[in-house]
Amino acid sequence: MKESCLFCKIASNEIESKVVAQTEDFIAFYDIAPEAPIHILCIPKKHFSSILEVQEADKDLMGRFLLFIKEVAKKEAGDSFRLVFNTGESAGQTVGHIHAHILAGRNLNWPPG
Ligand code: 5GP
Ligand code: ZN
Repeated sequence: MKESCLFCKIASNEIESKVVAQTEDFIAFYDIAPEAPIHILCIPKKHFSSILEVQEADKDLMGRFLLFIKEVAKKEAGDSFRLVFNTGESAGQTVGHIHAHILAGRNLNWPPG
């Protein structure tokens, strides 16, 4: 856990969130400022600043993370949704703990801009 990290605090329940699903290693919760009718964030509880910090040694955790995301998306959004990992400032990353956005419930434009 990184002391100053908002999503580490959400993962440890230090900060409240509306939890959608969780396991020992992962948690999914509603985005506080939704950009679509369904807007869920999925994170590993272990701190990574972004996908750029993921290493070979994390491949089991990250494989299971993808399956966790899939289960949440299927349950909450059905068969049509968008997954986004914003990475770095110019791509719009504002929280420095890796997170997947699940967006659904409206028509989504492409490219996102
Ligand atoms: P990013 O911009 O880094 O890709 O995504 C960060 C997301 O976290 C944003 O969509 C933002 O609305 C959401 N967010 C920021 N602070 C909080 C919070 O305290 N609780 C929850 N549930 N979401 C948050
Ligand atoms: Zn963190």
